[in-house]
Amino acid sequence: MQTPSLSSILRPGTYPLLIDGEERPGAAGRRFEVGNPSTGRTLAQVAEADAQDVDAAVRAAQHAFETHWRHTSARQRSRLLRKLADALERRSEQLAWLETWNVGRPITLTRASLRTMLDGIDYIAGVSQGIGGQTHNIADTHIVNFTLREPFGVVGLILPWNYPLTLTLSKLMPVLAAGNTAVIKASEVTPLSSVELGAAILEAGFPPGVVNIVHGPGASVGQALVDHPLVERISFTGGTSTGKAIYRSAAERIKRVTLELGGKSPLVVFDDADLDAAAGVALQDVSRNTGQICIACTRLVVHERVIDAFTERLRVLYGRIRIGLPEDPQTEMGPLVSSAQHERVQRYVEIGRDEQADPQAMQDLSGRPELREGFFAAPTLFAKARSEMRVAQEEIFGPVQALIPFRDEADAVRIANDSRYGLAGVVYTRDGARAMRMCKALQIGNLAVNDPIKATADAPFGGFKESGLGKERGLDAILENTQVKNVRFSMR
Ligand code: NDP
Repeated sequence: MQTPSLSSILRPGTYPLLIDGEERPGAAGRRFEVGNPSTGRTLAQVAEADAQDVDAAVRAAQHAFETHWRHTSARQRSRLLRKLADALERRSEQLAWLETWNVGRPITLTRASLRTMLDGIDYIAGVSQGIGGQTHNIADTHIVNFTLREPFGVVGLILPWNYPLTLTLSKLMPVLAAGNTAVIKASEVTPLSSVELGAAILEAGFPPGVVNIVHGPGASVGQALVDHPLVERISFTGGTSTGKAIYRSAAERIKRVTLELGGKSPLVVFDDADLDAAAGVALQDVSRNTGQICIACTRLVVHERVIDAFTERLRVLYGRIRIGLPEDPQTEMGPLVSSAQHERVQRYVEIGRDEQADPQAMQDLSGRPELREGFFAAPTLFAKARSEMRVAQEEIFGPVQALIPFRDEADAVRIANDSRYGLAGVVYTRDGARAMRMCKALQIGNLAVNDPIKATADAPFGGFKESGLGKERGLDAILENTQVKNVRFSMR
């Protein structure tokens, strides 16, 4: 398939806000630019919201909640979610290209993640119809005691830039299915696909105000959403320091929060492991989305007996990663999302050098003129890392991994848990009992044994420790978007 022209995918003019069922510019008429990370050039202009727009969006969401959405049945909501999936499928090529050009993720991967996402909508639309309260056998037989699961009202959704559409939908579906309405703030860096999501929402026939979308800086637009008194709940995905600031603001009004934050996940490889399979997971995590994945295993914790053999496999695999322009269907790894992210990764390579972690670039991109304009980086391995080093402790969010040896199982557990994060982790061993002991010992919210970590719509997802609070995805996400009301109903 050929690369489409920019004009066949991009909207002419400024990308709008969506407030009360209407696409519109920001009240102050301000705009900002978003870029293409593989060329460094501007891709589009986007309307910038201010506090007045956020207020209008929240009031529209509140009105839609009170007058309509809270009175709909789970079945009616599910039907609309399925119509949304159809509307997204009809524009799937456009969405895939927008993500490819705005995020820099290769087109084959943006297409694949769209497919997974559409299946996820189907799951939420189905399972949400089974949600309800319970009855309780209490001591007084003249009382029927039951619980209702009710929506909160307006939920604010705040997103990062790495998987804009997938993460927005994985938050939005349970919010809507549970009967809440939403105001979305996409990342300033990658807002384009959220505008087309808004268009799909209108096409699917959602009543005005059920979903609203505002754009602009987190410090003003995001903060205004968090602070708005009519927003009952915040669902945030992003960095841990931003998450802490949002948590503090939300505490002022005891708002409910779900926080999906940073990670520094271990891949623990025992000496009896299938080294090829384990190296395949490391490869996937260094290259997929150019390592800009919260759940990526960036600490490779490997038994000292097999660390040389494992490193040799990485060298071969990393040398073969097809780094290139994301439009090319052969490309496996595109650029980093922005110059800021590129500088951050380079800074950490220097930090690793100072710490004597021995950073080794696994490819030389200097002879690739087509990559010069964009924010490309070679996959890099800190070959002599130790757990206490900054490069083994801090989230870098790029194609870099730290290799750390361990002696025995207790040492592996100590190193894997030696992190303020607890988002994800992978264990490779052929010993079933040991694998089970590791599952119990690791302080991590999302674990995989002899398989890569995958965040799917049908299983709960959420971090331990400073990686977050609450669960997204799966049945748990729908339940988290409801509050339990207890009712004593007298028959006297
Ligand atoms: P940031 O924390 O910088 O930003 C996330 C979002 O929060 C953006 O929309 C940002 O706005 C907004 N924001 C910033 N400040 C405030 C504020 N004071 N009030 C309200 N909103 C605010 O994260 P990044 O976008 O840089 O994303 C990378 C991070 O996201 C990584 O740490 C990564 O681990 C994490 N992440 C976690 C995932 C998980 O599921 N656990 C999944 C994916 C990413 P803007 O930037 O537009 O100004």
